[in-house]
Amino acid sequence: MAKPNKKGPSKTVDIFCRTCNALLFKYRKGGKGALVKSFKTRISQDHTLVPCICPNCQKPFAREVIIRGLPAYKFIGGKVWFK
Ligand SMILES: [Zn+2]
Repeated sequence: MAKPNKKGPSKTVDIFCRTCNALLFKYRKGGKGALVKSFKTRISQDHTLVPCICPNCQKPFAREVIIRGLPAYKFIGGKVWFK
C-alpha cells in the first residue's frame, strides 16, 4: 500500500533533457515513481526560454496541459530524466 501524502512535496529534483542533458527545471516532486507531469506551481526554477522547448537543443520535451484546473507540463515519454 502506498504511503499517504504528507503536507506536500519537500524533495526537489532536477529535471534534465534526455537528448543533451541540459537542466530544464528544479521541481518539487511529490511521491516516488515516474515523472509524468509537473505542475507549474511546483517548479522552483525554470531554465527554459520557450515553454516545453529545451533551451539547449531546441527539442520539445513536454506539452502544456491543464490538470484538475492547474497548469502543468506533461512530459513527452523518454524526453527527460531526473535525479
Ligand atoms: Zn536538450
